[in-house]
Amino acid sequence: MFRSLLLKAARSSRLRGAVEQVPVTRRLVSRYVAGTKEGDAIRAADELVADDLTVTIDLLGEDTHDRDQAKQVADAYISLLNAVNQAGLASDVEVSIKLSAVGQALPGDGAKIALDNARRVCQAARNAGTTVTLDMEDHTTTDSTLGILQQLRLDFPETGAVLQAYLRRTEADCRDLAYEGSRVRLCKGAYNEPASVAYLDPHDVDRAYVRCAKILLGGPGYPMLATHDPRLVEITGSLAAKFRREQRSYEYQMLYGVRPEEQRRLVRAGERMRVYVPYGEDWYGYLVRRLAERPANMFLFLRSVASK
Ligand code: FAD
Repeated sequence: MFRSLLLKAARSSRLRGAVEQVPVTRRLVSRYVAGTKEGDAIRAADELVADDLTVTIDLLGEDTHDRDQAKQVADAYISLLNAVNQAGLASDVEVSIKLSAVGQALPGDGAKIALDNARRVCQAARNAGTTVTLDMEDHTTTDSTLGILQQLRLDFPETGAVLQAYLRRTEADCRDLAYEGSRVRLCKGAYNEPASVAYLDPHDVDRAYVRCAKILLGGPGYPMLATHDPRLVEITGSLAAKFRREQRSYEYQMLYGVRPEEQRRLVRAGERMRVYVPYGEDWYGYLVRRLAERPANMFLFLRSVASK
């Protein structure tokens, strides 16, 4: 219930102004977000790569309702990819993009605008020597996002997909996408979804995650297991061994600022670990989703609001 309210708040632009005034906000933002500028993201990526981690950089922002702005977001990604290349990081650093940020939510031909913009970003990534992963947003966008993925993969087969274990449809999507060369990030899912399409009980979500991980690790594709859940990390490791997966024929992924010691422990154990590094001015929705996942952070935040 509380999580659901928070996730609704993540989409409210009116609440954003109020949240920005709360003193602890800046501290929480800097824990989860690399900074507001491209240079901040490059610096954070450089530090992580120096520690043998790999990175996917996300320019924060979603639900663009303006065609010019959608184009500007794609341009910002192209600039970012040039910066990644110039910093000599392209073999370890890719980018993650939300299609709603590049036009998917626009009325009429939004899907086509998003496809065209994403195509430009994929070309820039190819030129730089790296890849793009399409983040997955709420369930109303899943079909459109997988359709755009399919189009992009005709020219850029290296484009990564994201599937959310909490959606009831996802096991079938895993089967469809578990093919040779297919890069698929599996996460639990971060949006406020109805019971008609998603498992709401956390245990059911965990069980679905394991079923999906079995399909992806048992297939010939390249699974990217995105979770901080210690139990799921352990189960993933056992499944990888069971399916005789060599280390680096799959990877773990975690968010910037979440369980950094565990990220390094997995690297020391010989695993590939990719850290999702967000940057940009538009941190509000991202921060509120992270608060919803972590009650301890939420209490810190509420205490600060109360003492204002
Ligand atoms: P949880 O059960 O939420 O957490 C397990 C444990 O991890 C917690 O007990 C705690 O110890 C730790 N933890 C989790 N979250 C936090 C936090 N915020 N702060 C501190 N500790 C924490 N979701 C989407 O819907 N679409 C996407 O495209 C997407 N991409 C993602 C990419 C990456 C690399 C990752 C790691 C996640 C992504 N997510 C995405 C978010 C994901 O769906 C979950 O909401 C998020 O990862 C929390 O789930 P969990 O598996 O970590 O398990």
